[in-house]
Amino acid sequence: MTIYATPDRDGSTVRVIRRDGHLECVNCRIENDPEWPGERFTFEAYGIPAMLDHLDLHVAVGDIVPPTAFARLRHEHRDNLEAGNR
Ligand SMILES: [Zn+2]
Repeated sequence: MTIYATPDRDGSTVRVIRRDGHLECVNCRIENDPEWPGERFTFEAYGIPAMLDHLDLHVAVGDIVPPTAFARLRHEHRDNLEAGNR
């Protein structure tokens, strides 16, 4: 498992990991169901760009996403593109 961001590291208020090849935003407060206030869900991104967009949303609602998380995801994405994977 890769941890890109986790609460209390670099002041992060989100937890972003890669588990079994899937990028996940764990206990995401954006992806919660209005029918179940207080319940938290995990957002699963299909690809790095989707997760980057998702993290931009977190920043927009006032969450703290450490720059290191963005940098690492962008770096991996660039490596994937150079390797011919999309
Ligand atoms: Zn999220």
